[in-house]
Amino acid sequence: MSVEEQVSTYYDMLLKRNAGEPEFHQAVSEVLDSLKVVLDKDPHYADYGLIQRLCEPERQLIFRVPWVDDAGLVQVNRGFRVQFNSALGPYKGGLRFHPSVNLGIVKFLGFEQIFKNSLTGLPIGGGKGGSDFDPKGKSDAEVMRFCQSFMTELHRHIGQYRDVPAGDIGVGGREIGYLFGQYRRLSNQHESGVLTGKGLTWGGSLVRTEATGFGVVYLTQEMMKAAGDSLDGAKVIVSGSGNVAVYAMQKAQELGATVVGFSDSSGWVETPNGVDVELLRDVKEIRRERVTAYVEDADGATMHTEGSIWDLKADVALPCATQNELNGEHAATLAANGVRYVAEGANMPSTPEAVELFHNKGILFAPGKAANAGGVATSALEMQQNASRDSWTFEYTDQRLHQIMSNIFGTMSSTAAEYGHENNFVMGANIAGFRKVADAMLAQGVV
Ligand code: NDP
Repeated sequence: MSVEEQVSTYYDMLLKRNAGEPEFHQAVSEVLDSLKVVLDKDPHYADYGLIQRLCEPERQLIFRVPWVDDAGLVQVNRGFRVQFNSALGPYKGGLRFHPSVNLGIVKFLGFEQIFKNSLTGLPIGGGKGGSDFDPKGKSDAEVMRFCQSFMTELHRHIGQYRDVPAGDIGVGGREIGYLFGQYRRLSNQHESGVLTGKGLTWGGSLVRTEATGFGVVYLTQEMMKAAGDSLDGAKVIVSGSGNVAVYAMQKAQELGATVVGFSDSSGWVETPNGVDVELLRDVKEIRRERVTAYVEDADGATMHTEGSIWDLKADVALPCATQNELNGEHAATLAANGVRYVAEGANMPSTPEAVELFHNKGILFAPGKAANAGGVATSALEMQQNASRDSWTFEYTDQRLHQIMSNIFGTMSSTAAEYGHENNFVMGANIAGFRKVADAMLAQGVV
């Protein structure tokens, strides 16, 4: 059987076994496509059912999360944890609380996480979890009761050597606090290495909050440097205004760029003179308001609810909100408007059509599994500090993050070139991430 036929057989099987999970199909399809050249060159990577095992989670947990709202009514949500691959280390990946969460979304995120974690060079496996709970509009007490109920089930399945969750959409410092408190109560021990993104006085790491956003910009900087360019003086679009977006904006502006727009699910904001990051943090992190509140308080910012943030003119685009937020049409507009670099802060924000267009137009494109790996990498640094009961300075941790992002760029870039696809960082990231996990899986036998 040719490699082409082999890969299409794997994919057809996957579609049958995982019906109704389009995001998972999309994530697997992209990786399998990149692996054709690897299987061509090194057919042993198809031995021992390796590809089928890689695409099948080691364990998938689905559980009921009942909780009582402020009106005294019982609410029931669904909780998920997909423990995808532990060949390189304990499962590691965030928890997402958003009404759109379902098993297929968690599987796509968990699958991506395997390669991302491998690319960091740190000993962490891949997993992901979450719930269809919507923290928006809920009181602190409701969020706490939900988190406590969620952890009451999840605590049996996690641990510093087993599975180490963190934040994602809808899960920030507040939620990690409530989750950790309940874990500590149920397990009767202060096992700080069981969750990352913790508060600084109880095992958290400096830079973890900023890490994903800073990391995206560090990687973008490397990509621009390799093309003889720099962020200094560049115009940057950042979609979203959550954890990843805010710190991407901060770092891009620190490096001399102007962020010309950002968004949330209520619309997008045009900021031709740059973003007041302190004000935006106050609006989103402290007041927990919509971006309209930023526009009311900021000078020279305009709110839009029509069109798209991708209509703005810029040099660099950093999609940092959610999956499939940037489609082929958006990509064509970006290309026509002169964008030359795209790096994904979010997981899989660009559709396959958008990615194809970027490649065809010679736009340098860094996929999320490489560009946003700074978050999980710093989580692994938090685990290192927990294991040695130490806490590092901001400068030292940031330097480690910066180094990791430079290494990721170097690895994906050289791997793409090695396989004859220079500057195709999707291929480079998928192949480099895959080889390390695959070698470990082959060495560990059929498990
Ligand atoms: P947050 O919840 O902090 O922020 C998410 C942002 O995206 C908000 O501005 C939100 O707007 C917007 N958004 C979410 N869903 C939609 C939607 N369907 N349509 C439009 N806008 C939307 O999440 P994070 O910043 O943590 O995560 C953002 C992305 O980055 C996700 O893809 C996540 O998986 C990825 N990521 C996060 C990491 C981390 O360390 N936090 C690490 C690696 C990847 P609104 O508030 O209106 O919903």
